[in-house]
Order: sequence, then structure tokens, then C-alpha cells
Amino acid sequence: NNPLRGQVSITQVSKSFGKHKALDDVSLELEPGSVTVILGPSGSGKSTLLRTINHLERVDEGFIQIDGDYIGYQRKGDRLYELKEKAILRQRTEVGYVFQNFNLFPHMTVLENIIEAPIVHKKQTRAQAIERAYQLLDTVGLREKAHAWPRHLSGGQQQRIAIARALALNPRVMLFDEPTSALDPELVGEVLDVIKKLARSGTTMVVVTHEIGFAREVADRVVFMVDGKVVEQGRAQQVLNQPQHPRTRRFLARVL
Ligand code: ADP
Ligand code: MG
Repeated sequence: NNPLRGQVSITQVSKSFGKHKALDDVSLELEPGSVTVILGPSGSGKSTLLRTINHLERVDEGFIQIDGDYIGYQRKGDRLYELKEKAILRQRTEVGYVFQNFNLFPHMTVLENIIEAPIVHKKQTRAQAIERAYQLLDTVGLREKAHAWPRHLSGGQQQRIAIARALALNPRVMLFDEPTSALDPELVGEVLDVIKKLARSGTTMVVVTHEIGFAREVADRVVFMVDGKVVEQGRAQQVLNQPQHPRTRRFLARVL
């Protein structure tokens, strides 16, 4: 049993798009089973950070480790990066990702959406994947929707299915990028409730959200980003109750 299972280390990561530095020397440690909420204004690099953790973006500098394994690592003239492609692909299946806009496959039923990845990645047999899918549908409270089409579900239900789908590969790390910001206000609570339940299950989680009440309730740590930099991070209650950085103070004053 790897004691680093579920640990994520981000070390001095930078990433530019053209001349724009979307991530500027970002370092973060995510302890196994911890919940980290990332706050920050639009364009501050929150999504880019999540995408680098999942290796949807390559870093320009710095490195990311999951469970002590390097997934992104690049320095000038360093060939290790290319050698690690296979490990990167494997790792990507072990990090679950939930986006703002659910992105369920529209031509597949709910059940088919959930069993797709484990079967494609040959992680589970079809029978195992179906059994697991029903467990996950119970977790998100939607067992009766197994054979429904995504378009017949509410936004909140679709997002709960997207969470179940992300969990189907039994990821050690779950990333949520503004999981409720596309939802009507009355549907936000049902999605946050599912995420809260997961938070208690020991999965390492990173949640980008403006839901401060949620952050107060479930976050162990809060990270505040501005212009690609982490300007403040610490224990959730500390950052939320006594923000030190003027930008954090201003941001919290506005969203509270
Ligand atoms: P946030 O999620 O905090 O709103 P993002 O990570 O989406 O911020 O974006 C950070 C900055 O990087 C923004 O200025 C954005 O325009 C830029 N950016 C993000 N992705 C790309 C991309 N694929 N190509 C060019 N610029 C990008
Ligand atoms: Mg974003």
C-alpha cells in the first residue's frame, strides 16, 4: 500500500499561451484524501492548473507528481518527458475530471456513459462495469435514470451523472472545474451534496468554485489565484476568515 496514494505535488509549474503566462511558478501540495478549493477571478489560471494536473496541458517548466510518480516534467533538453508518455496516459485514467458543462455523450444512455471508460481502458469487464455503474448511480441518487437519455435529464442530474462517470475508473484524485456554475440556482445544492459526500470518502479532491459556503463546509485548504500566481494558500478557515492578501480580501468581500 503506497502511502503516497492520492497525493499530488505541483512544483514550480509555469505555463504560457503565447506571451501570456497562464501559470506562473505555481507550487501546491495536496495531501491524500484532502479537499482543496481554488478561488480566484476569471482568467487567473484555475482551469489551466486543473488541466495540467490531468495532463490535458503540458507544463513549460516545473513538474507534477501523483502518488509520487512524475506525470509532467520538462526542462530544456530533457528527454524524460517523452519517455514518460505511457505513464502519463495511464495516470490520466486515474484522475477524474468534472467540467462546468457536464459533456455527457448525447448518443449514449446514462448507463452507457458510465461504463464507457472502464471498458475502453480495459479496466473492468462489461459485467463489472455495469455493477459498478449501479453502485455509482446509487451514490448520486439516480439509479432510476440508468436507461434515460442525457437530454431528458435536468442540468443538475446530468452533472451528477458526469460525476458518476468520472468515478467509474476509481480515480484517486477528482478535479472539479466550476461544477455548478452552469446550473440554475435551484439545482446547485443537489450537485454540491454529491461532492460533499465524496469529500468524506477519502478521495483527494480539487474544486474550483465560487460557492464559499461549500468551501467553508468541506474544504481543508483554500488556494487563491491571481494572474497565474498563487497569492495565498492555507487552512480553509484561516484563508476564508482572515485573508491576508488584499486581492483575496477584495474577492471574498465581493462573493460573500
Ligand atoms: P480561469 O479558469 O481562472 O478563468 P484559465 O485557466 O481558463 O483561467 O485561463 C488563464 C489565462 O490563460 C486566461 O488569460 C486565458 O485566456 C488563457 N488561456 C487559457 N487557455 C488558453 C488556450 N488554450 N489558449 C490561449 N490562451 C489560453
Ligand atoms: Mg476556468
